Amino acid sequence: MSTAVDSINLAGETREFLTQHHPLFIGGEWVAPVAGAAIDVFDPATEARIATVACADGDDVDRAVAAARKAFNGEWSKMTSHERTELIWRLADELDKNLPWVAELEVLDNGMPRAMAQLAISGSGSRFLRYYAGWATKIHGDTIPVSPQRARNGDSLTYTRREPVGVVGAITPWNVPLVMAISKLAPALAAGCTVVLKPSEETPLTTLALAAMSKKVGFPDGVINILPGYGATAGAALAEHDDVNKIAFTGSTGVGKKILQAAAGNLKKVTLELGGKSPVIVFPDADMERVIPGATRAAFFLNGQNCMAGTRLFVHDAVYEQVINGVAEMASAFRLGSGLLPDTDLGPLISAAQRDRVMAHIASGKATDAELICGGDALDGLGYFVKPTVFGRTTMDMKIAQEEIFGPVLCVQSFSDTDTDAGLDALVGEANRSIYGLSASVWTRDISRAHRMAAKIDSGQVSINCHAAVDPAIPFGGNKQSGWGRELGKEGLEPYLKTKATTIMF
Ligand code: NAD
Repeated sequence: MSTAVDSINLAGETREFLTQHHPLFIGGEWVAPVAGAAIDVFDPATEARIATVACADGDDVDRAVAAARKAFNGEWSKMTSHERTELIWRLADELDKNLPWVAELEVLDNGMPRAMAQLAISGSGSRFLRYYAGWATKIHGDTIPVSPQRARNGDSLTYTRREPVGVVGAITPWNVPLVMAISKLAPALAAGCTVVLKPSEETPLTTLALAAMSKKVGFPDGVINILPGYGATAGAALAEHDDVNKIAFTGSTGVGKKILQAAAGNLKKVTLELGGKSPVIVFPDADMERVIPGATRAAFFLNGQNCMAGTRLFVHDAVYEQVINGVAEMASAFRLGSGLLPDTDLGPLISAAQRDRVMAHIASGKATDAELICGGDALDGLGYFVKPTVFGRTTMDMKIAQEEIFGPVLCVQSFSDTDTDAGLDALVGEANRSIYGLSASVWTRDISRAHRMAAKIDSGQVSINCHAAVDPAIPFGGNKQSGWGRELGKEGLEPYLKTKATTIMF
C-alpha cells in the first residue's frame, strides 16, 4: 500500500484487505494463476497503487469452468430451493454487516464518493440479493392440456420444468463494480446456476471481498468462482468456452459485439447490458424546482460514468435559459476530490486513459458551433479529475451528441413546437436519433403528453419526472445497440432458466 493511501484514516478491515495477497477464487479455494501473472490496482484519486491481485488467463478459466461444472452437477443441484434462498439471503446479511469497509474499498478502487458507494451497495447490491433470494422458491413450470397424435382428450398430460441453464460466465465493468457483479450473481444463484465471474481489471477488489463472504456464509465449493483478468485474455476465453452455457455481460457496445461472436462457437445464451446516450426531455410546464437538480444528477451522477446517464438534454425554448443556467450553476458548484473526503460530490474518472478519452470528446465539442457553458478542463495534479462540462446549442449531428462519452459531459439542445403532432414527432425523432436506447426521462405535468412520449421513445426504460429509477423489481436493459435482454425483475431471472416439456400418455 502506498504512502498516499496510508495517510488516510482507513478502516482496519480495508487496510488489512489492501495488504493481503489476492489469488483467484476457484472451487472454493484461493489459488495462484497458472501463469503467475498479477494486476496492479490503483486509486484513481491519487494514482497510487493500492493492491495487487492475481491475473487469470485461459488456463485459469478452464479450471474455474470445470469447478463450476462440478458444483452444478454435484452438491449445488441437490440443494433445495429453500436452501438456495437462505444462502443468498445470508450473503446479503454478510454484505450489510461489512458495508462500511466494503464501501470504502469500492471508493478506493473506483473513485466514487463514499455515500454513493454505500447507497449503491446497500440500496442496490444487498436488495438485489434479497429480491432474487425470494425468487428461488417461486420458479416453476406449467401443466398444459394437450392431445398429441391420436390421443383422446384427457389421455395425456404435458408439464414443463424450469431448469437452470448451467454454468454462467459473467463479465462486468468498472463503473459500479460490486453492484454489477451482484446483478449477475443474484439471479444466476436463485435459478440454480453456478458462476464464473470476471470483474473489470480496473476494479476487482470488492468482487474478491464478496467471494470471501460467499465462502464464509457456506456456498458450496465451485458455485461462485471469481477470476480477475484482462478482457482480451480471460474475458475472451470465458466468452468462447465450450462448457459455459450462458454469458451475462455488462460493458461497452464494442466489446458486446465481440462477446456475441465468441459465443457463437457453442451457441451459448447471451445477455448484454451495453452503452447509452439517454435523452432527458423538459417541457415548459414541468416543475423547475425538480427539473434542474434532476437533470443535473441525471447527467453527472457517477461523473457520467453511468450507462443510464442523461447526457442529451432537450429543453423547450421557453425555459431553455433557465434550465441550462440552473444546471450549469449546480454542476459548477460540485466539489471534485477523493471519494473518501466527506464533502466530495464528484470523484475522479477511472483512469488516465478514460480522462484522455473524455478530454478528446470535449475538444471535439469545442471545435463545433456548440456553446461551452461550463467546465471543459481537466484538473492539474494527481488524480483523473475532469470538471463537469455543459455544452449548449448542440445538435444531433455533432459527435459529442452521438457518441457515448462516459464522462461528465452534457449536451443541451432546444425545441419549440409541442402543440402539434408533427412537433412532438419531430422531438421524439431527435430523442430517438441514436444507436442507443437504454434510458430516457420526460419532465412535464401534462399526464397525457407524458404517456404519449413514453410510448414513442425507443428505450428499455422511460422515467417521468425522475431519471433512471432503479429497483430490483424494475426490469432493466436496452433497445437497439444498448443491449440484449433484461436484468432485474422477474424478466431478469428468465435468461438463467430453460424450459423442458415432458409429455405423458396414459
Ligand atoms: P468494457 O466493454 O471495456 O469492459 C467490460 C468488461 O469486458 C471488462 O471486464 C473487460 O475486461 C471485459 N472485456 C474487454 N474486452 C473483452 C473481450 N474481448 N472479451 C471478453 N471480455 C472483454 O467496458 P468498461 O469500460 O469496463 O465499462 C464501460 C462501458 O460499460 C460503457 O460503455 C457503459 O455504458 C457500459 N455499461 C453498461 C451498463 C448497462 O447496464 N447497460 C452498466 C454499466 C456500464
